[in-house]
Amino acid sequence: FVRFIDVQKSYDGVELVVKGFNLDIHRGEFVTLLGPSGSGKTTCLMMMAGFETPTHGQILLKGDPINDLPPHKRGIGMVFQNYALFPHMSVAENLAFPLEVRHMSKAETKRKVDRALAMVRLENFGDRRPAQLSGGQQQRVALARALVFEPELVLMDEPLGALDKNLREEMQYEIKRIHADLGVTMIYVTHDQTEALTMSDRIAVFNDGVVQQLAAPDTLYEAPENAFVANFIGENN
Ligand code: ATP
Repeated sequence: FVRFIDVQKSYDGVELVVKGFNLDIHRGEFVTLLGPSGSGKTTCLMMMAGFETPTHGQILLKGDPINDLPPHKRGIGMVFQNYALFPHMSVAENLAFPLEVRHMSKAETKRKVDRALAMVRLENFGDRRPAQLSGGQQQRVALARALVFEPELVLMDEPLGALDKNLREEMQYEIKRIHADLGVTMIYVTHDQTEALTMSDRIAVFNDGVVQQLAAPDTLYEAPENAFVANFIGENN
């Protein structure tokens, strides 16, 4: 569904921060990119989203090369740690925005906004401003906004990093429920190993700009392919 073919990336033209690897993510999977700070996870997500272009190699989406496709034509939903909701708009207006950009009718927009609000259990919050919501509720709105145009692929970069432990666990459960309900492909960046192990169908372990191993959580434990994976997965971080 998403395929990396020898993708490399350098920001300054000299040093490669993504050093060339192949990666194949299947439709409907929940795949986590896990690895130390600076290992290239966010850069890979940005290249999938279209905010960065690979210096070398190609990314395929459903078999088609997308290096030259602008972000809004990729049909990808995104959620970031700092949710970046529009503060001057209500929750419902925030959710309607991606649909208005796509010239959807008013009736269709309302139907989809209501559905997205129900999906994140915020049916009665459409009229509020983001500032009138808790951090967890704001992150639910951000998730709803990423899902509202029914993308086939959702990218998430440390979406729960700003939340306290209890809220984080609650949201992990919510995201997994939505993943199961919608059957959407999700790619999730974190450096929280427990989060990765509990949520993922497969985990891509990053180090130093390369995917060291892409495998199911138990396989990473039982059959790490190299010393980095063996050491990293055992660590308490
Ligand atoms: P973290 O978990 O800390 O977010 P990461 O694994 O997501 O780390 P990246 O953010 O992809 O790693 O960064 C990989 C490398 O690329 C780092 O050395 C970083 O300093 C560098 N880098 C990232 N974005 C840029 C940029 N816009 N310009 C120049 N260098 C960048």
